[in-house]
Amino acid sequence: MIVHHFTIDLEEYFQVSAFETCVSQSTWGRFESRVTAQVTRLLDLLARHDARATFFTLGWVAKRHPKLIRTISAAGHEIASHGWDHVRVTHQTPRHFRESVRRTKDLLEDITGAPVLGFRAPSFSIVPGKEWALDVLIEEGYWYDSSLFPVRRPGYGYPDGLPGPHWLDRPSGMLAEIPPTTLRWCGLRLPAAGGAYFRLLPYGIVRAALRQCEREGTPGTFYIHPWEIDPAQPRLDVSWLTCLRHYGGLDRTAGRLERLLTEFRFRAMGDSVASWSERAPAAA
Ligand SMILES: [Zn+2]
Repeated sequence: MIVHHFTIDLEEYFQVSAFETCVSQSTWGRFESRVTAQVTRLLDLLARHDARATFFTLGWVAKRHPKLIRTISAAGHEIASHGWDHVRVTHQTPRHFRESVRRTKDLLEDITGAPVLGFRAPSFSIVPGKEWALDVLIEEGYWYDSSLFPVRRPGYGYPDGLPGPHWLDRPSGMLAEIPPTTLRWCGLRLPAAGGAYFRLLPYGIVRAALRQCEREGTPGTFYIHPWEIDPAQPRLDVSWLTCLRHYGGLDRTAGRLERLLTEFRFRAMGDSVASWSERAPAAA
């Protein structure tokens, strides 16, 4: 039986890349924090379905909510890194990226006492030409990455990336790459891994993508954000397209997650990486 990966990008509703132009980072501290309540709901959901997840955590959030991070870790889930402040790799120099992933890893390890092995770039922003980021991750002690989304989308995507988990042989060493799941359909590769695709498209698309992974004998990778189960979050004044992408389907996401966790089995990414490599340190 294939066990898939359940992943959560742990950030606040006001930190998403789509709001970058209307919410500057210097104002983040003024917004109401809603992450603890939503993570608590997710932890309950995961516990009821005996699922283990990977939480790609923003350093900014961990610094303000260390108790929440300890609670997630104590519940048996894996804490991984989403960088410090949600700046996309496409907007960072190698030096800034290194500082961000080092600072986040150090803080998360301080809080939980467990090694941080994995990284996911904000908005899957390791795109063609930014592969230096993979070398920085290896040099900073990361074992796997989940940023190369093998689709062609405006602003992100790694179109020539492999769709399933694989090893990257980089100048700095080896790195396991575990991409978000895509659905092969009529010669196309469609994003079907979670997020807005899970909220806005029919549920059957994500289910079909995970079934396709099972037929191929590889685990699929699903992702969601705490704010995606929070229909009561404060509404920001954004364009109609951003409004649709961010607020569409929020009221049905929790129900769909319940269904997904009933139909499939999930574990953390670190569990898979540990089973692929004897060298990988065990994720707590
Ligand atoms: Zn994010």
